[in-house]
Amino acid sequence: MKTIASFSVDHRGMEPGVYFREDVRAGVPLLTADLRFFRPNAGRYLTTTEAHTVEHMLATALRSSAKSDNVVYFGPMGCRTGFYLVTLGLSPEEVLSLLRETIPQCLQMDEVPGAAEEQCGNYRDLCLADGAEALKAFLPRCEKRAYKPL
Ligand SMILES: [Zn+2]
Repeated sequence: MKTIASFSVDHRGMEPGVYFREDVRAGVPLLTADLRFFRPNAGRYLTTTEAHTVEHMLATALRSSAKSDNVVYFGPMGCRTGFYLVTLGLSPEEVLSLLRETIPQCLQMDEVPGAAEEQCGNYRDLCLADGAEALKAFLPRCEKRAYKPL
């Protein structure tokens, strides 16, 4: 088995922030942004409720944005320190701009999107306040790209 790209990055001392890497898949150039909410292995992780709620909120805002067609995937890291945002045809600066546009939109939401039983696989594990708090704390990290892991 191969060591996959994200395991080749030294996670020690990694600060919260937005980290980028470029990959080509089937001839298509993709830009993956690691939205690192918490420093790895430092004792504070997203709760499942926070991760799940941020996924619902930010996925909805990203899919509702003018750059919706450029968003390939958004979802939580299994280690619960952040999220992956895979994009197509955007620069790192455009991704940061998109986050600075969409996170404040999430903070204006008065309910968690897709929170009905028929819309979600674990609809009881959602909390608007928890999701908003995690996003609000992360927003200042979207001012500029982080560099260390690359
Ligand atoms: Zn869900």
